[in-house]
Amino acid sequence: MGQTTERNAPTFGIIGAGMSGILAAIKLQEAGYGFTVFEKADRLGGTWRDNTYPGLACDVPSHIYSYSFALNPEWSRFASPGSEILEYFERVAKEYGVDDQIRFSDPVVRCTWRDSKDGGDNRWEVETGSGHVETFDFVIAATGILHHPKLPEIEGLESFAGPMFHSARWDHDVALDGKRIGLVGTGSTGVQITGALAPRAEKLSVFQRTAQWVVPVDQVAYSEEEKETFRTDSDALDKLHDELTMAFNDGFGTSILDVDSDMIDGIEARCREELATIDDEELRAKITPTYRAGCKRLVISHNWYEAVQADSVEIVTGADGEIERIEPTGVRTADGRLHEFDVLVMATGFKVDSFMRPMSITGADGADLDEVWAERPSAYMAITLPGFPNFFMLNGPNSPVGNFSLIQTAELQFEYAMDMVERVVSGQLERIQPNEEAAQRFEDERVEAAQNTVWATGCNSWYLDDRGIPFAWPFPFERFRREMAEPRLGDYEGAGV
Ligand SMILES: Cc1cc2nc3c(=O)[nH]c(=O)nc-3n(C[C@H](O)[C@H](O)[C@H](O)COP(=O)(O)OP(=O)(O)OC[C@H]3O[C@@H](n4cnc5c(N)ncnc54)[C@H](O)[C@@H]3O)c2cc1C
Repeated sequence: MGQTTERNAPTFGIIGAGMSGILAAIKLQEAGYGFTVFEKADRLGGTWRDNTYPGLACDVPSHIYSYSFALNPEWSRFASPGSEILEYFERVAKEYGVDDQIRFSDPVVRCTWRDSKDGGDNRWEVETGSGHVETFDFVIAATGILHHPKLPEIEGLESFAGPMFHSARWDHDVALDGKRIGLVGTGSTGVQITGALAPRAEKLSVFQRTAQWVVPVDQVAYSEEEKETFRTDSDALDKLHDELTMAFNDGFGTSILDVDSDMIDGIEARCREELATIDDEELRAKITPTYRAGCKRLVISHNWYEAVQADSVEIVTGADGEIERIEPTGVRTADGRLHEFDVLVMATGFKVDSFMRPMSITGADGADLDEVWAERPSAYMAITLPGFPNFFMLNGPNSPVGNFSLIQTAELQFEYAMDMVERVVSGQLERIQPNEEAAQRFEDERVEAAQNTVWATGCNSWYLDDRGIPFAWPFPFERFRREMAEPRLGDYEGAGV
C-alpha cells in the first residue's frame, strides 16, 4: 500500500467462514473496510457445520461460547447442542449482514504477496479453485485448527464392508438403532457419541487407547424464566458472560497449566469420586487414567459414567484390546478376538498441524509457507509470520487452547490485527511483518515454557507436536490478553521503536 488513498481504504481477504471468519467479517464491516470472505463449503459455520454427530454439544458454557457483542439469551442449556451453535452463527452472520458477502463453494488455493520491490503493489493476490483472482491489502486466515479429519493408520482400514465414517463426516443415512457399532476413540467427541449411542445400539464397542479424565457435569437446561431475564436484562447477560470468561479463560485456563495446581487436584478428586460409584471393578480399572488430569484435554460429560455401565456398551482397551487390523466384518484386536459390527465410526480427531494448508502461500522474497513450516507450524505471538507481510491467522499455531472458549481468543487476536492495521493506515508502519529474531525469540521462550506445563507430564495427546512439545500457548491467559492488547512494535520490521 504505497499511496495515501489506498492507506485509507484497505481491503481484506478472509479465508474461512467459521466462527473466526464470521467474527472478522462483522468487525471489518463495522469498521467500514472492504472485504471478501472465501468459504470452500456451501454453508458457513466451520466446525459446527462439519460436525453433526449424535451427542455433539459445546463443552464450555454456552454463555461464553458466544461473541461478546452478540450474547444470546436463548441458549437452551448450560452447554448447548451443536445444531443450536450452528444456528447461532448463521443468525448472527445474517443479523450483521455478512452472510451474503461470503463466496461459497470455492476454496482459496493460492495466496501470493506481490512486493513493490519486484514491481508489485504490496498486496496479496488470492486465487480460488475456480480460477477467480482478487487482490487485497491484508489477508486473514481463519481456516480452523480442528478442521482436517484424521484417520488412524490401521491395517485394513478400507476393507470394512459396512458403512464407516469419521465423526466429522457423519453419514445420517446410516441406521444406528439396534445396530452393532464400533467406535474408535475416546476424546471429547468419542465420549459424547458414547453417551448418545449407548441407549440406541444393540452393542456399542468403544475402542479406547488411553483412559480419559472425564469431568462429570449436570446437563442444566435454562428455564423460560431465566431466558426471559436474559432477554430483558442485558446487564445480567453481560455479567454472566464476563464472570464465566474470568472463571474459565483466565482462572481455569491458567491454573490448569500449573502441574501442581490445587484446581487439578480438585478435578481429579471429583472424577475419582464418580469412578468410585462404578461397581464393576474391571470396568472401573479400564477407564481410570494413570496420568495427571489436564495432561490431555479434559473431557466434560453429563452421561459418560452412566453410558459405560449400560449393558450395550463394552470398553475395549489395554494390551489385549489394541486394534490389530480392520477386517470386512469388524475389528480384530491383539488378543485375536474379532469384534463384528454393522457400522464403524472413527472419532480419531484432526490433523492439527494442517492449519491453512494445502493452500499455496508465498510471501515476500518468494518465502514459501510449506518450506517455512516444513518441520512444524509456528507463528509470532500465534498470529503473524516473518516473511509474510500483512497476513494474520485467527486461532492459528500456538494459540491458546484448552477447556475454554476459543471465541474469546479469536476476538482478542482480531483486536490485535486491527490495532496493527490502523498503524499501517496511519502511516506508522509500512507493513506488518515480525522480524525473524523476534519470532525466534518468542518461539524459544514458548517452547521452554511449554515443557513445564501439565501437557508435558507424560501422556500422549493432540496438544503435542512431533517432538512431544505442547504446541499451544503455554503462558497464563492474562499474558495472552496483555500481548494482544499491547503489540510489541519493536518486534516488527520498520517500526523503528
Ligand atoms: C467436535 C468439536 C467440538 C468443539 N467444541 C468446542 C467447544 O465446546 N468450545 C470451544 O471453544 N471450541 C470447541 N471446538 C473448537 C472449534 O473448532 C472452535 O471453537 C471454532 O469453531 C473454530 O472456528 P474457526 O472459524 O477458527 O475454524 P473452523 O470452524 O474450523 O472454520 C474454518 C473454516 O474455514 C474453511 N476453510 C478452510 N480452508 C479453506 C480454504 N482453503 N478456502 C476456503 N475456506 C476454507 C472451512 O471450510 C471452515 O468453514 C470444538 C471443535 C470440534 C471439532
